[in-house]
Amino acid sequence: MNDLQLDDFKTNENAAMVLLVDDQAMIGEAVRRGLSNEDNIDFHFCSDPHQAIAQAIRIKPTVILQDLVMPGLDGLSLVREYRNHPATKDIPIIVLSTKEDPLIKSAAFAAGANDYLVKLPDNIELVARIRYHSRSYTMLLQRDAAYRALRVSQQQLLDTNLVLQRLMNSDGLTGLSNRRHFDEYLELEWRRSQRDQSQLSLLMIDVDYFKSFNDSFGHLEGDEALRKVAEAIRDAGSRPSDLPARYGGEEFALVLPNTTLGGARLVAEKLRQTVAALKIAHIAPTEGSSLTISIGLSTVIPQPGSNCRQLISAADKGLYLAKNNGRNQVGIE
Ligand code: GH3
Ligand code: MG
Ligand code: MG
Repeated sequence: MNDLQLDDFKTNENAAMVLLVDDQAMIGEAVRRGLSNEDNIDFHFCSDPHQAIAQAIRIKPTVILQDLVMPGLDGLSLVREYRNHPATKDIPIIVLSTKEDPLIKSAAFAAGANDYLVKLPDNIELVARIRYHSRSYTMLLQRDAAYRALRVSQQQLLDTNLVLQRLMNSDGLTGLSNRRHFDEYLELEWRRSQRDQSQLSLLMIDVDYFKSFNDSFGHLEGDEALRKVAEAIRDAGSRPSDLPARYGGEEFALVLPNTTLGGARLVAEKLRQTVAALKIAHIAPTEGSSLTISIGLSTVIPQPGSNCRQLISAADKGLYLAKNNGRNQVGIE
């Protein structure tokens, strides 16, 4: 809740701000005198009906006392104007008339008045009606402010939940999806591909000789290298449905829904070359080498009753082949 809304809440519901609009100064004086001894009632008088709306916007009355017969402007038209203006549309209006006439009363209520009094009303009755209308208007403002505050805090809650969700799904070091999110996503895409009988590809990616990289350059340099490799993996998948993830340690995965073996092989080969082109200095396999990755790749159309672990283990076999054949290459199972 912001300060403004808090202020709204603190508004004293017993306090009234009265604006009397009447061309006769004498009426203004009489009402001023009648209200002068009342606690918590502020009184403003406007003798020029053409200034009434502007003044109402400025002083924010909680009740308007409106004369009906004024030179140059009909009181009922003014009541309609209050109702059409966003700043005054809900302010209670007590119409002051010279006559006790049911037809005029009916017209006043139809124009949007909330109450009707014959001039000059008894002071006790006038105060009672001012307090009654003012309190219900203040409570309306408080209720509106409470709803606004509720909407704001609901939105904040939604935003916080989104941030939490993102944090829960991402890996702290690289910002890629973490293992938890990878598992969920692969399961989901497995079932979708099963339904659609579409091809689902998976790349398992492992940094070559990374233990010796850490041993030679230290873990902080190792972390930095993992971030760079992660960046390349993030850029490798171009479709919104492609999901790059850190599988664990120096192993990564890239889920490629709706992707053929040929398409996935192109993505994998390009990724392998991109990482090699980063030219991150390494001492393995030989002094003066650059850091490289090996990639295992598998593509399947999931069959009924099958499990996505099947795809992971096939891509793992591809990775094993790539390592065995000398690393820095793509192995396909
Ligand atoms: P291979 O070419 O066969 O993959 O050899 P390797 O040395 O990369 O494989 P191995 O599994 O023996 O070692 C992986 C190393 O990755 C071990 C560990 O120190 C390192 N590692 C795992 N997670 C992190 C990490 O978050 N940060 C750093 N700096 N190193 C990590
Ligand atoms: Mg490994
Ligand atoms: Mg490795």
